Amino acid sequence: MLDKFKPTWMVETIYHITPEQLAKHNVKAVLTDLDNTLIAWNNPQGTKELIDWIALMEKNGIPVVIISNNSGDRIQKIADNLHLPYVPRSMKPSRRGFVRASKELQIPLEQCVMVGDQLITDIFGANRTGVRNVWVLPIINSDAWNTRINRFFERKLLKRLLKNDPGMIWRKSLD
Ligand SMILES: [Mg+2]
Repeated sequence: MLDKFKPTWMVETIYHITPEQLAKHNVKAVLTDLDNTLIAWNNPQGTKELIDWIALMEKNGIPVVIISNNSGDRIQKIADNLHLPYVPRSMKPSRRGFVRASKELQIPLEQCVMVGDQLITDIFGANRTGVRNVWVLPIINSDAWNTRINRFFERKLLKRLLKNDPGMIWRKSLD
């Protein structure tokens, strides 16, 4: 069970992930969390770094899809602003959002990667769906109130994961 919370990779930010690294691991599409992975939860404007990264993925023919537990106007506005497709109300760790994105992209789950800042939603959800995943550091250190509860359990999980594998550290690439 603990294994289902273990990320495939740990990389500091989504911007560290390059098309070359993805190709090496036979990844054809990036599924990503929104809040604190792509943007700061309290600042919906994407940074220049993010815009550049999205452009780089597009240039290399790698689709990027937002898989969010958020719903409604907020996510639509942000996704439109970034020109990214999205799956709202994914209810991660449910399999639903991952499966829907993979079907719409016509790219099998095994060739997708999920990027997210939360073990309990993003990483657990991806693992239970058979999607390799990247755990990134949250963009900012404060969280919305509902995320703070997840963080409490996340710290406990990380402690146990580290006991089994002390080599779990954030790196600057997938390799
Ligand atoms: Mg998040």
